Amino acid sequence: MLLAKHKKKLDDLLAVCHKNLHVVNDDLITRAFEMSVEAHKHDLRSSGEPYFGHPFEVAMVVAKEIALDDVSVASALLHDVVEDTDIDIDIIRKEFGDTIAEIVDGATKISNIFDSHEITQAENYRKLLLSMVNDIRVMIIKFADRLHNMRTLEYLPPEKQQRIAKETLDIYAPFAHRFGLAKIKWELEDLAFKHIHRKEYEDIAHGLNSKRREREHYIRKFIVPVETRLRQSNLKFEIEGRPKHLYSIYNKMVKRNKPLEEIYDMFAVRIILLTPDNNECFTVYGIISEIYKPIPERFKNYISIPKKNGYQSLHTTVVGPEGKMVEVQIRTRQMHEIAERGVAAHWYYKENGSQAPLDKELENWINWVREMFDQKQADESVSPKELIESFKLNLYQDEIYVFTPKGDLKILPKGATAIDFAFEIHSDVGFHTIGAKVNGRIVPLNTILRSGDQVEVITSKKQKPNFDWEKFAITHKAKAHIRRYIKEEERKLIDEGKEIWDKKAKKAKLHINDDDLTKYVHTKRYDNLQLFYLAIKNDEVDADVVINELTDTSLRSEGVAKVEDSTSMFNKFVDTARNLTTGISIFGTKGDMLYTYAKCCSPIPGDDIVGYVTTGEGIKIHRKNCRNVQSMLNNGEERIVRVSWPDSGAGDFIAGIRISGTDRSGLLNDVTNAISNFNNTNIRGVTVNTKDSFFDGQFILYVKDIAHLNGIIERLKRVKNISKVERFDE
Ligand code: MN
Repeated sequence: MLLAKHKKKLDDLLAVCHKNLHVVNDDLITRAFEMSVEAHKHDLRSSGEPYFGHPFEVAMVVAKEIALDDVSVASALLHDVVEDTDIDIDIIRKEFGDTIAEIVDGATKISNIFDSHEITQAENYRKLLLSMVNDIRVMIIKFADRLHNMRTLEYLPPEKQQRIAKETLDIYAPFAHRFGLAKIKWELEDLAFKHIHRKEYEDIAHGLNSKRREREHYIRKFIVPVETRLRQSNLKFEIEGRPKHLYSIYNKMVKRNKPLEEIYDMFAVRIILLTPDNNECFTVYGIISEIYKPIPERFKNYISIPKKNGYQSLHTTVVGPEGKMVEVQIRTRQMHEIAERGVAAHWYYKENGSQAPLDKELENWINWVREMFDQKQADESVSPKELIESFKLNLYQDEIYVFTPKGDLKILPKGATAIDFAFEIHSDVGFHTIGAKVNGRIVPLNTILRSGDQVEVITSKKQKPNFDWEKFAITHKAKAHIRRYIKEEERKLIDEGKEIWDKKAKKAKLHINDDDLTKYVHTKRYDNLQLFYLAIKNDEVDADVVINELTDTSLRSEGVAKVEDSTSMFNKFVDTARNLTTGISIFGTKGDMLYTYAKCCSPIPGDDIVGYVTTGEGIKIHRKNCRNVQSMLNNGEERIVRVSWPDSGAGDFIAGIRISGTDRSGLLNDVTNAISNFNNTNIRGVTVNTKDSFFDGQFILYVKDIAHLNGIIERLKRVKNISKVERFDE
């Protein structure tokens, strides 16, 4: 049961709600009211008053000055409950449902962001944006909350006053401006101004006050003939002297370096037409121009061309009585609502059941608010303070915010295209993309997205990535997926091409090593063997023709031997490796024994080897796993002898690895570093072929053992752009 004083407050609040809101759920507001009273009953504000006074006043601001809806009022009553009392969000959810729970939760989170004193983290902006986009009412409540806190700021210690006032000027007021909440913005600024520059504030307030009567008298004198003429024209209107905001006067004084008198000597009048007919505004303009002489260059028509925040009005400056300048604003009631309450006014029209056009406007509004994260334009109305704010926002300007058809927010780097968006959703979506719709329209996949775009990806199970996508994907995720795909596809095609080639070459008994074949393909303007194999696979090159040509060449020139005997990369390596050893130790023999290396398995120092005693050729050294000696080993063949490589001084073996991949700048350096940084591995020799896109390198290394070698291989596989690392084998 509520105490009498609370009952009175509840009645006041409900009365305000009924006066300003289109629909009011009394039960909802009553329950929120009761929960808030109960939850805060032990708490006090800095002023010493019961805490409940704060949520109550915030709810009053929401109901009266912003006038959004009853859900906002209920949420305002509950906005500090989760943060300050034992009640958690689940209880709110149970009692009031998801919508109010989300709003309260959003408002609580935003407090945490703002309370961290300085927004320095991109992540925080992101959270802010997210909560804002989820429900505009979150921000509405934060504005009302801040407004009441500013109105009662004097109870806090001075340092805290300064910090909060500054934060209000830096963050809340610009945000309120973006939301079009002009009235709230002005009050926030004036209150902050009062605490930050108290002396200047008081000077201006005093100056305005001392001349108030004089000014009111002048405005009266200006208005009378206007009123008469408008009435004669049967217009329904309100006319008022426009209140001046102290902070804007101060800014003008600073900006124009002029004394107060010159600034506030400018008078301002506003005429609001009560009939929703834009043409009447022009009629009024005509009438005023007949009474007072207009200054043509000061005329602004924001009705035909509204400001970006939806602001509409006619502005004219005329020469009034005594030759003083008077600025006149002319607008309809609806234009006025939007000018004062911005997004909240649109909300009202939406709730009011008005149809599509106004809902669309709300959409535009929210889209426009989102665009502040896509800062680039500085229009004439941007104050220095807002520029500072833009600067803060600019830190994160390289991100755009786009939406799925369901309204989920996706954050992408600026310049991102529909294909980035597709991969952002899921790699499966990316891989099967056939098209995209942006804001309902089908667009090419390379269309650059803008903040606020709604993007829908069209997929087909049969679609496969197009190699061109790599050119216009900019996110790491999309690029990586596309590249990997291209690499795999190309690798497959290259392998298939090589298979075709090998089969045909074998059939034609053409023996040509890779080095010589590479030299040949260079003459055919293929940069490397991969591209040559790819061309075979793609039928761009006829393998038979090449084989014929090669066979002819080899037969005609002295080069037959050259082709067959020239040392391949591998053979060179084998020779190098063997020369670095001091010979083979053969167990059970004395003195030097003649030995040769078997051609079938080309053992390299480091390999497990065995010796095979031949007749006449001494001992043949095979790898232990060579197919030719396997069966003999198994049969316990007597002609097999144990042999081993000599220990090198450092106990190191020579090993060769072959590395291939897509070339990029710095790749060789990265590869070399990867090797030498791994257990201080020494590199004995390097041969690298880089032609355009392909990188093919052979490295001869000193390794301790196979584990060491495998470690290096694993490490190299992680180097960017490297697709294949293998130990030299035949
Ligand atoms: Mn609060």
